[in-house]
Amino acid sequence: MKSEKIWMDGSMVEWDKAQVHVLTHALHYGSGVFEGIRAYKTDKGPAVFRLKDHVERLFNSAKILRMEIPFSREEISAAIKNIVKENKLESCYIRPLVYRGYNRLGLNPFSCPVKVMIAAWDWGAYLGEEALAKGVRAIISSWQRSNINTTSAKAKICGNYINSIFANMEAMESGVEEAILLDSNGYVAEGPGENIFWVKDGIIFTPPLTSVLEGITRKTVIKIATDMGYELKEEFAARDVLYLADEAFFAGSAAELTPIREIDHYTIGKGERGPISTKLQSKLFDVFKGKEKKYLDWSDFV
Ligand code: PMP
Repeated sequence: MKSEKIWMDGSMVEWDKAQVHVLTHALHYGSGVFEGIRAYKTDKGPAVFRLKDHVERLFNSAKILRMEIPFSREEISAAIKNIVKENKLESCYIRPLVYRGYNRLGLNPFSCPVKVMIAAWDWGAYLGEEALAKGVRAIISSWQRSNINTTSAKAKICGNYINSIFANMEAMESGVEEAILLDSNGYVAEGPGENIFWVKDGIIFTPPLTSVLEGITRKTVIKIATDMGYELKEEFAARDVLYLADEAFFAGSAAELTPIREIDHYTIGKGERGPISTKLQSKLFDVFKGKEKKYLDWSDFV
């Protein structure tokens, strides 16, 4: 996980020199917002997937955290493409971060400057290549997704991810690959860094956006599944609905489309990547790689 350059506040900086002061506000309080984006190798060079949507969400997250990004959407978009080019990456993961920098500690963040960094590096399948083909085992976390009056689910706020890290550590300690969080009403919400879908009797389901992040992969899956003729419903569901599902999968920029083969030791469907998940995954990867003319608008060539 290393490339050559990182974009910091408008300049390209050597990877090892991309540093901040230890009293950086965000380091103490999680006062930052970020994005996770992928660029895919295509016949015409690397293409950033749904760049515009990611940049829009970054600005929305910053708005919610009352941070004025000192660059325009166009400048951030150009910097994102540039960091891929500068590092000569064919395909990669891209991490823009907008954060409160160093000035004064204390919970009042307003005196701390708003800083921006963008890094990119080669990052294969988030949960492993095997996970994409065979699926992962998951547990329902004992940690619930933060209530919508505790923090904002709409914003990708750094501090929110402690909730995800608790769930991840619990999954790791339990010997499975991923966690599933329920919302504060007990309904299935999402993974620590992915949205969740399940399939029952040929219908695809996903929770409504109430307490989950509005994932760009989620939006993509909904669009392509609907275009493929599948019925798709947004529904609240208790954990036992997942136990009895025919198929289930995670969807996210990092996790892409990762099937779930087991939840709380219950086998999901046949305990393998199901037929609908297989079709959607294959279509999704074609779309990511700019192989589907119909969705080429989503590919931003570097
Ligand atoms: N939920 C959470 C909590 C996430 O962190 C992510 C990753 N950004 C997602 C869902 C999936 O969102 P996307 O498809 O936009 O990556």
